[in-house]
Amino acid sequence: MSRQRSAISLLALLWASTASAQQPLRTYADAFIQQSRRTDPQLSYTITVRGGDRSAYFVELRIANPPNPARLVIPNWAPGAYRLMDSGQNIAALTAATTAGDTLPVTRDSDISWIVDTKGAASVVVRYSAGLRNPVQWRRPNNRWFLRATSGIIDGPRTYMYLDGWKLAPAHVTFRLPTGWRIATGLVATTDSTTYWAPSYDVLIDSPVLVGHFLDYRFTAGGRPHRAVVDLGGVRPRAAPAFVDMVRRVSETTIGIFGSAPYKDYTYIFVAGRGGGLEHLNSTTIGVTEDVLARRPAGAEGVSAHEFFHTWNVKRIRPVELGPFDYERPVRTLNLWVSEGVTDYYTEVILARSGLNRVADFTRRMGDAIGNHRGNAARLVVSPERASWTVWDSPEVNNSYTISYYLQGQLLGFLLDLAIRDSTDNAKSLDDVMRYLYDHYAGERGFTRDDLRTAIRTAAGPDFQDFWRRYVSGTTEIPWDDYLKTAGWSVRFVEQAAVDARVGSITPAVQGGRWRAVAIPGSAAAAAGLVTGDELVRINGREILDGSDVSAVVRGVRAGGAVVLQIVRGGQPVTIRFTAGTYSQMRAALTDLPEQTDRMRRIRAGLVTGN
Ligand SMILES: [Zn+2]
Repeated sequence: MSRQRSAISLLALLWASTASAQQPLRTYADAFIQQSRRTDPQLSYTITVRGGDRSAYFVELRIANPPNPARLVIPNWAPGAYRLMDSGQNIAALTAATTAGDTLPVTRDSDISWIVDTKGAASVVVRYSAGLRNPVQWRRPNNRWFLRATSGIIDGPRTYMYLDGWKLAPAHVTFRLPTGWRIATGLVATTDSTTYWAPSYDVLIDSPVLVGHFLDYRFTAGGRPHRAVVDLGGVRPRAAPAFVDMVRRVSETTIGIFGSAPYKDYTYIFVAGRGGGLEHLNSTTIGVTEDVLARRPAGAEGVSAHEFFHTWNVKRIRPVELGPFDYERPVRTLNLWVSEGVTDYYTEVILARSGLNRVADFTRRMGDAIGNHRGNAARLVVSPERASWTVWDSPEVNNSYTISYYLQGQLLGFLLDLAIRDSTDNAKSLDDVMRYLYDHYAGERGFTRDDLRTAIRTAAGPDFQDFWRRYVSGTTEIPWDDYLKTAGWSVRFVEQAAVDARVGSITPAVQGGRWRAVAIPGSAAAAAGLVTGDELVRINGREILDGSDVSAVVRGVRAGGAVVLQIVRGGQPVTIRFTAGTYSQMRAALTDLPEQTDRMRRIRAGLVTGN
C-alpha cells in the first residue's frame, strides 16, 4: 500500500510543480517527460500489437536524458519462477535512433544485454520485438506470456528491457492495441486510458497485462476493489456465480488474517490452460479450464488462495535476497520453504476458514502431506533450507535426492502453528508471526533466517532454536505425534500395495524447456535405468508438457503393464522400458486421540477458524 500510494502522490507532485510547455502535449507520457525538470533518465514504453500480426509484441522504449553508453537488459529470470529463461533469444530487430531519426550504434553485450552509443543525444528511441520464435510454444496459453487472435498477456520480464543502473526510475507504458481490445492490469492508471505508470522497473515487470477480449467481474473485499478477469481464448462461457463467490471468499478470508489489504486494488487474471499460477504485487495470473470456470470452481480454489496469500508472503514479506532484484543471475535464499511452503499451509487454512473446505478436508490433506513426506527418503537427506538454497541447481548437488520445499514448508508451517498454540495455550499462533513479519519486513528490507526466529520469539513467545537445528536446517525425523497431540490428533501410517510405475518430475532447468525426471530410489523405473535429471519427452506415447502429464500417465498404469519412457540424456534420445510391479506405498491419516480435552478442541478450532 505505501509503495503505490507514495507513487501516486509523487506523480501528483510532479504534475503540479511543472511549468507550462511551449507546444501542445499529445500524450500523458510526453507531458511527464517534457515537463519534468530533472536530468535523470525518463523512460516510457509503447507496446504495440500490430493488425493481424501475432508473432510478437513490438516495443518502443523512449529514454530522455540517457546515460552514454546506455546498457539495456532483458531479465534472465522472473521473480516467483526460480528458473533461467533464455529471454534474450525472444528479442529481435533491436535498433536505436535519436528522436530526429538518426541511427545510433548498438552492440550486443551478452545473451541478454545491448549497449547503445547515444552520441550524447538528449533523447533516444530503442525499438525491438519480443516474442517466441517457436509458434507452437507461443500458442500454448500456459506460458502466461502469449499473443493470439483475440487476446494476449504481456509478461513484464520477457517484454520490457531495463536501463542498467536505473531500475528504480519510474516508467510509463502505453498500449497500442487492435480496435475493441481492453486492458486489465495492476499498473497505476493515468488520465489517458491507454497509458499506465509504474514507480519502478520492479513494479512495472511485476504487473502482467491482459489485453484483448475477456470477461470482467468486480467485487469488494476488505473495503478495496477487486477484479477477476477471465480469458479463455475465444471460448466464452459465463463464470458461474459460485466461481466469483469463491474468489471473493478467498480474498476476504486472507485479508482477515492480516487485518487489511496492502494495495489500492487487486486483479485476478484467469487464462485458459493448465493449473498453476504466478504471484504479483497486486495481481496474479492463474490457469483455469472452461469446466472449472463454469461448473467446478473448487478446481481453482487452492491455486487462488495460494497466489493471493503471496500478496503478503513473498511479494511483501520477503527473504532479504529477493529484492531489489538482480535479474542477470540466479538469486539464492534459504527461505523458499517459508515463501512457498508456508503459503501452501495457509492455502489449507484459508480454504477451511472461508468455509470452502470442511474441517475434514483440512485434516485429510494434512495427513496426505505427512504421508508424502514420510514416503520420500530425501526427507532425511535434504533439509528445507537446503532444498530452498539449491532450487537453481541440478539434483546432482543433493546426490539426486529431491524433495519439494513446498511440501516441507507446508508441514513446517503446520508444526509451528501447533507448537506456538501449545506453548501459549492457544493465545498466539502462526498468524501472529505472519502479522509481525508483515509489520517489520514488508518494506525496504527483507528477512533473514535469524530475523525469522526473532519474529517467532517476539510475536509468539517460544524459542525455536532446537526446532530449527533439527527440522529446518537439519533432516531429523519429525516426531509427529509430539506436535499433533496438542490438537487431539495422532498420525497413523499405513503401507499399502500400489502399482510401481513411479516416475517423479521436477520443473525444467530452463523455462520453456523439458520437465525432468526424478528416479525414485527403489522404483522399477530407477532399476530400468532412469536417472534423476533425464529430460522427459513421452511416457507411453503421451507427450509430457508438465508434471501433470507425468502423474496422469503413471496413475493409469496397471500392475504388470508395460511402461515406455522416451527421454533425452546429454542431448541424446534414450528409450527406457520396464514392467510395472508393486511396492509398499506410505500413506498417513490424522486420527482423533481417544480422549479429547477442551484445550485440544480449542486449539484445533483455532487452526481452522482463526479464533
Ligand atoms: Zn507460490
